[in-house]
Amino acid sequence: MRLSRTLAPTLKETPAEAQIVSHRLMLRAGLVRQTAAGIYAWLPLGFRVLKNIEQIVREEQDAIGAQEMLMPTIQAAELWRQSGRYDAYGPEMLRIKDRHDREMLYGPTNEEMITDLFRQSVKSYRELPQMLYHIQWKFRDEVRPRFGVMRGREFLMKDAYSFDLDYAGAVISYRRMMLAYMRTFQRMGVKAIPMEAESGPIGGNLSHEFIILAPTGESQVWYDAAFERMDVSPAAVSHHSPADLERFFTEMTTHYAATDEKHDPALWEKVQEKREGRGIEVGHIFYFGTKYSSPLGLTVAGSDGTPVAPHMGSYGVGVSRLVGALIEAFHDDAGIKWPDAVAPFRAAILNLKVGDAACDRISEEIYAKFAGDALYDDREERAGVKFADADLMGHPWQIVVGPRGAASGRVELKRRATGERQEVDLDAALAQIG
Ligand code: ATP
Ligand code: MG
Repeated sequence: MRLSRTLAPTLKETPAEAQIVSHRLMLRAGLVRQTAAGIYAWLPLGFRVLKNIEQIVREEQDAIGAQEMLMPTIQAAELWRQSGRYDAYGPEMLRIKDRHDREMLYGPTNEEMITDLFRQSVKSYRELPQMLYHIQWKFRDEVRPRFGVMRGREFLMKDAYSFDLDYAGAVISYRRMMLAYMRTFQRMGVKAIPMEAESGPIGGNLSHEFIILAPTGESQVWYDAAFERMDVSPAAVSHHSPADLERFFTEMTTHYAATDEKHDPALWEKVQEKREGRGIEVGHIFYFGTKYSSPLGLTVAGSDGTPVAPHMGSYGVGVSRLVGALIEAFHDDAGIKWPDAVAPFRAAILNLKVGDAACDRISEEIYAKFAGDALYDDREERAGVKFADADLMGHPWQIVVGPRGAASGRVELKRRATGERQEVDLDAALAQIG
């Protein structure tokens, strides 16, 4: 994209309403704008990051055999009455009436709907197990929407649902999903700690929150350094092998990990390699048995013909929250330092002298080579403004084209993450960026 014709309204001043660094930087870098309390419009750069995160989440869900679908945002109240959650959910649920006075709601989550869809079409144990997911906007009328997209009212979530014939099957689905989560966050360049969470009425240890480490995170976390070394690659753990999954799960759940409420100083004492940090919850997975299949009448015929209520689990990732969480993990005083995997553009091309024949020619040549994956700063602005905006927006690479170098085919290459700069030939620069 050419920056001169891109809606990327950067701000020099720190917006007064933003309390945390990711919110400030998202506004300053022109990624989002608030349109109502806790509701945001995603401007082109922010939208590209959101899509990149979504794509990583999607690929890792697909890799473990989850099927992508799309359920609507608006739901009928009726199903929620059947599960008993229509009243239980409280004021966080946005309730709507249509023109015929029918009660509807903007979905805060989709357990009821997926259970109903499954009920209509799946009849036999032979069709299980299955996992389904969608990436869809949710609405929760949070009491205090804050921290920008980290706690919004409308937010993008990946929610997956598993259906198994029995508890043993559900445990395997749960472990598979945990593996997919570890891979997902690792690809985004962050360390995720699976933290045992309240598991509700069903009990067991099948509920985990995933906390990613970021110095400005809202909760304190204590964990064993073993998490930092865990190899979750397909070569190390196959999602097809129950034995692999069990070994992986044991490894994940026997090491110490706690947040403020769960911290146990006596147990912590025994941890060999203690690590402390701050963290942000970006995902939550849990097994809930037949909590929805029973009241909604979902049964399948078991192998002897008797009806069986499938055991279910649900698995959420805060896709839009991750945009903020990753900025919390990767930034400095000058702005965002996007990890390569999610950056809006791989590189920014800074033409320091628009109108200079050599600068224009080289900049255009580089821009063409990136086939859309570069942001070309072709504005008639001072060099200082271009440097500041590129640092603020956080592209992993900056290619600086100035009149002196351009005449001899040289550019300055800057790596945003390290600040390292080199003056190199154009071809060498492109080869390094890869
Ligand atoms: P929280 O404790 O932060 O309110 P939750 O327990 O309500 O989260 P879940 O229902 O498990 O969250 O939703 C799954 C994921 O969706 C969370 O891990 C989080 O990343 C994200 N999420 C939940 N609420 C919001 C929100 N208001 N804004 C942005 N993301 C959210
Ligand atoms: Mg909540």
